[in-house]
Amino acid sequence: MNQTVRPRIVASACPHDCPSTCALEVEVFDRHTIGRVRGAEDNAYTAGVICAKVARYAERVHHPDRLTRPLRRTGAKGSGQFAPIAWDDALDLVAEQFDRAEQAHGSEAVWPYYYAGTMGFVMRDGINRLRHAKKYSGFHSTICVNPAWTGFIAGTGKLAGTDPREMAKSDLVVIWGTNAVNTQVNVMTHATRARKERGAKIVAVDIYMNGTMRQADLPVLIRPGTDGALACAVMHCLFRDGRADWDYLNRYTDAPHELAEHLRTRGPEWASPITGCPAATIEAFARLVGETKRAYFRLGYGFSRSRNGVANMHAASCIAAVTGAWRYEGGGAFHHNDAIFHLDKSLIEGKDAADPSIRMLDQSRIGAILTGDKDALRGGPPVNALLIQNTNPVAVAPEQDAVKRGFARDDLFVCVHEQFMTDTAQFADLVLPATMFVEHDDIYLAGGSQYLLLGPKLIEPPGECRSNHDVICALARRLGAEHPGFAMTPRQLIDLTLQKSGWGTLAELEANRWIDCQPDFATAHYLDGFAYPDGKFRFKPDWPTVPFSRAHGTVRSAMPSLPDHWDVIEEADTEHPFRLATSPARDFLNSSFTETPTSLAKEGRPEVMIHPDDAAPLAVADGDVVTLGNRRGTVRLHARLFDGVRRGVLIAESLWPNKAYADGRGINTLTGADPIAPFGGAAFHDNKVWLRKLAH
Ligand code: SF4
Repeated sequence: MNQTVRPRIVASACPHDCPSTCALEVEVFDRHTIGRVRGAEDNAYTAGVICAKVARYAERVHHPDRLTRPLRRTGAKGSGQFAPIAWDDALDLVAEQFDRAEQAHGSEAVWPYYYAGTMGFVMRDGINRLRHAKKYSGFHSTICVNPAWTGFIAGTGKLAGTDPREMAKSDLVVIWGTNAVNTQVNVMTHATRARKERGAKIVAVDIYMNGTMRQADLPVLIRPGTDGALACAVMHCLFRDGRADWDYLNRYTDAPHELAEHLRTRGPEWASPITGCPAATIEAFARLVGETKRAYFRLGYGFSRSRNGVANMHAASCIAAVTGAWRYEGGGAFHHNDAIFHLDKSLIEGKDAADPSIRMLDQSRIGAILTGDKDALRGGPPVNALLIQNTNPVAVAPEQDAVKRGFARDDLFVCVHEQFMTDTAQFADLVLPATMFVEHDDIYLAGGSQYLLLGPKLIEPPGECRSNHDVICALARRLGAEHPGFAMTPRQLIDLTLQKSGWGTLAELEANRWIDCQPDFATAHYLDGFAYPDGKFRFKPDWPTVPFSRAHGTVRSAMPSLPDHWDVIEEADTEHPFRLATSPARDFLNSSFTETPTSLAKEGRPEVMIHPDDAAPLAVADGDVVTLGNRRGTVRLHARLFDGVRRGVLIAESLWPNKAYADGRGINTLTGADPIAPFGGAAFHDNKVWLRKLAH
C-alpha cells in the first residue's frame, strides 16, 4: 500500500452481523485500495469506537486468498479441486441446473439460501426477489433472531426499547447474556461512560468470566439456560422488599398480582441450585435493581440460544416492568430496534410476486432438509439445487454431520457466491467470486441503535468479483424471472426503498451519511402504553399469538404462562456430564474474519474451557487434546483450564473453520437443530456432551 499518498476519508457503514452497525470512516488511497477504517466520531452511537477486526479491514479486502474468478468443481464433492470457468458459462450452468431441478421435481426443488454475511438490504435480501419470481422454496430465517426477538416482543408487543444512548445516562446498566466486549463494543462505550460520569454500576449476567464480566462491578455467573430462574428470583426480591412499583404495575401491566403470587416460591434459595449462582449474589443484584430507578437492561442474544431461550428473554425483560424503570431516562429495557425503522423492502425482495402457497424451509434444519427428512421438507419434493449467498452453513449450521452428508449428495447442485473458499464453497459445484461492502452500494439498519446508514461503493472489486445484485439479475435474465427490481441498479433500489419507507431520498442520505430514526422519549419508553391493543406489558403472554413478524411453523410446546425456569434444556446426565456453549470469539464474527492473519493469530487455535476441578478427575491438563462428544458426533480440540465457569460448564469460543480442528469436524457437529419453541431457532449454547482426554 502506498502510504506516501494521502488517502481520502469516506463515510461508510459496517456490513457485518453485529447489532452496532457502526458508522465508519474509510481511508481510500485509489480506485482499488483502502487503508485504515475508523469509527465516525460524530455518530452518537458509534462515538468514534469500532472493534479491532473491522479497523484492520484492509487485511480482508486485500487478502491474497480472495476469490477473484468463477470456479467449477473438477474433483469429488468437497475435495476442493476447482478450475476457472468464464462468468457467462458459469451463469448458464446455474440456470441449466435450476431448470433441470424444476422440471424434475417442480420449482420448490430449488432453494435460495442466504443470511447475514452482509446486512445490506440490497445484497442480502435481493435473492428473495428471484425466489418469489420463480416460486422457489422459501427460507424461514430461524438461526439467529427468532428466540430473542420473540421473547422480547412477548412482553412489550413490539421490538423496540429505550434509546441505547441512554445507557450513558443510567445509574445501573445490566448487560445480560451478551459479551459486548467481543461482539458489540459500543455497548461498553456507553455503559462505561455512565460509570465514569455518573458513578453508575455495571452488572453483567453471563455463563463465563468473559471480557464483559471482568469489567462489571457485579458479575453474575450462572449456568447456561438458567436465566429465567435468575430473573424470577430477582423479581421475587423486588416484590418481597417493597421495591415493586405498584402504581406502574397496575397502570401498565397485565397480571401483576398473579406474577407476585407466582414468584413467592421462586426466591434466591430456589434459584441458586438451578443457576449455580450463590443466593447472596442474587440478593445483591436484586438490591441494586431495587434501589436504582434509572436501571437499563441491555438484553443480548446469547442467552436466547437455548431450548428455553424465548422464555428466558421474556423473564429478563419483565424486571424493568416490575420496578417501573421504563418511566425514567436511562431506565427501561432494550434488545433491538427493528420496529422503529418501518422499512418497506417490497421492491428489493419482490414481495408482490410472493406466493403464500410455496413452502418455507427452516434455515437451521438444512442438514435434515438436504438429507431428505420428510418433516423438514414439509412433505414436498427434495431440494436438488442450492444458490448460496452470504452464509457458510457447512461451518455455521447445527448438526454439521448431517449438513455435510447433504452437501455431499451427487444429485444436489450447489452454487456458492462467496468472498473466500469457505467450508461451504469447498462443497460447491460452482463457486462465484463476490464483492465486499466497500465494492458495492447498500443501506444498513443499526438494530442495536437507531440509525439507517449508507455504505456506498468506494473502490473497484478485485479480479472478476461481482455483487450479489449483479448475479441475481443475471440469473433472472437466464431463468426468465420477471420483476422491475431486476432492471434497477442498487442505487435506484435504495432510493425507492427509502422513499417508500418515508425516509427521504438516496441523495439526502448520501449528504447526511445516516438517519437518526429514534422515536421520541414517550414512545421509546412506552409511556403511552405498550404495543398490545390494551397498552399493557405482558407478564402472561399468549405464546402462539406473540406478534413476531417472522412467526412461522409454530412449535407445539406448553411454554410457561408466567416467567419461570422452563426445564427443557439438554441437562447433563451420567453419560454426558457437561453442558457446552459455543460463545463468540472476539476476533471472528461467526465464520467471517477466520481468514485474516491477525484474527487467526489472536485467537490461536480451537479450545474448550473447562473448570480445573472438572479437569482434574479426568487427568486433563492445560493444552491437552480432548474429544467432546454426544449423539450428534465428536469434535477434537485443545483443553484450556479456566476457573471462570461454573462446574460442569464448557465454553468453546467459535466459530473456527472446520479444517482448524484435528479431524475436520467443527464445533457445530455437537449442536442440535431441533426447533426452539414457539417459532423455531437453534440452541447453540444448550448441548450436553461428554469429554475425554485423547490417549497419546
Ligand atoms: S463493533 Fe460491530 S458494527 Fe462495529 S465495526 Fe465491529 S463488527 Fe462492525
